[in-house]
Amino acid sequence: MPVRLRITLLFALLVFVILSLVCSGVYYFFHQSRLNTIKTRLTNRGMTTARLLSQREVFDRGLVQRIDSATTISLKNKTVQAYDYQNRKIYQYNDQPGDTMQVETEILDDARVNGTRYFKTGNKEAVAYHHADSASRLVVVSAATDADGLERLSALAKILLVFFLVGNVLVLVAGYFFSRGLLLPVRKITEDVEEISAHNLTRRISTGGSKDEWYQLAHTLNRLLNRLQESFEWQRRFISNASHELSTPLTVISSQLEVSLQRERGAEDYRRVMQSIYQDVQRMSRLTQTLLEMAKASGSAGGLDFMPVRLDEILMELPAQAAGINPQFTVTIQFDELPESDEELLVYGNEPLLSTAIKNIVINACKYSADHTALVYLSRKDKHLLVVVEDQGIGIERSERDRIFQPFYRVEENSNAEGFGLGLSLADKIVKIHKGRIEIDSEKDRGTRFFIFLPAAGTTA
Ligand code: ADP
Repeated sequence: MPVRLRITLLFALLVFVILSLVCSGVYYFFHQSRLNTIKTRLTNRGMTTARLLSQREVFDRGLVQRIDSATTISLKNKTVQAYDYQNRKIYQYNDQPGDTMQVETEILDDARVNGTRYFKTGNKEAVAYHHADSASRLVVVSAATDADGLERLSALAKILLVFFLVGNVLVLVAGYFFSRGLLLPVRKITEDVEEISAHNLTRRISTGGSKDEWYQLAHTLNRLLNRLQESFEWQRRFISNASHELSTPLTVISSQLEVSLQRERGAEDYRRVMQSIYQDVQRMSRLTQTLLEMAKASGSAGGLDFMPVRLDEILMELPAQAAGINPQFTVTIQFDELPESDEELLVYGNEPLLSTAIKNIVINACKYSADHTALVYLSRKDKHLLVVVEDQGIGIERSERDRIFQPFYRVEENSNAEGFGLGLSLADKIVKIHKGRIEIDSEKDRGTRFFIFLPAAGTTA
């Protein structure tokens, strides 16, 4: 069911319930008030008659009947009957001749006990009133039709019914237009979103003037679009850089082959060319390997195998790995402030990726320092495990500290060192999918310290 219709029906249902309650309340209280009035009037009538009858020595009954006929004009078809203590009818007056009523003894007894008793007889309402004084004990039953009261009650019922029906129809119509206005911003947002595509990512949803919930929604969607746009641009840059990095050695290989094939050459020449091609291919292979790792780390953590990983064990492998890349590289591990339990050195993560991230930073420390030495410390800081990688190398300018985490970015003056500019970007991505962070402290020409914070397993850091 469309939301618009749902809002209309809900709104109409609410008003229907409220109107029903109000109308029934008004009707009920009016009905009660009429009932009280008729009871009081019939009781008064009974009281007067009883007083007059108890003085029968003074008034004759014909006079009492004349008084009964002359009073309370709005009470139609009056009947007044009086009974003595033996339930004998001692007086009777009827507006309509012959309109006597049968009163059950139980009613008379009830009136004697309670003072008055209200009841209905035919279309009349009646009150039995008990009068007792030193001279007599009477029960006077006065009955009549409350023509005025009933007429007013029925007029009120009609008015309420008309208002109720008209009110509900009006609410249905008003609710339909009201929900239209309410949902207008949603339509606007949908239209705006439909116009935005991968090719038109710079467009944004208009947020409107008032800072209401629709504004919040449009604002949130715009922030999402900002992130999407950034991510698209990042990918575009990344692909273009990666293609460039791959096409350069391919061009070199192709031109080397072309030149050497132009004429017959000696075995030594061919060996040199093949050696050079081999190096280029090796470099391309390393690059594709890194690109694959990048792709793996670019997704969400959901697609990766996560398990508890001992960080100290990953670090222990670093000296051999560094020496494997370059025999001059030296890595010294220091476990100074280690917690007593091995459990506290666990990180919940993907071991190969974590190992790659730390290795990249450690290799950089060896690569960008004259002594090719990296010092690695491991400690626990509250809910985090902290790996510090320290070197006494060339240092990093403050202005470069953010940029070195961008893919393919290399500091110009160090670009003769072997590398693609992907190591730190990959390390940063891996640490981020493990909900950790990397910080840098560096001084130009004095050295650099990389701080890798990783949440310890079993914590919600
Ligand atoms: P690569 O080392 O392949 O160039 P990285 O992404 O690993 O790429 O590093 C980006 C840049 O950051 C490097 O080119 C280098 O200039 C700088 N850098 C990284 N680590 C260090 C370090 N320990 N000392 C000095 N400069 C560093």
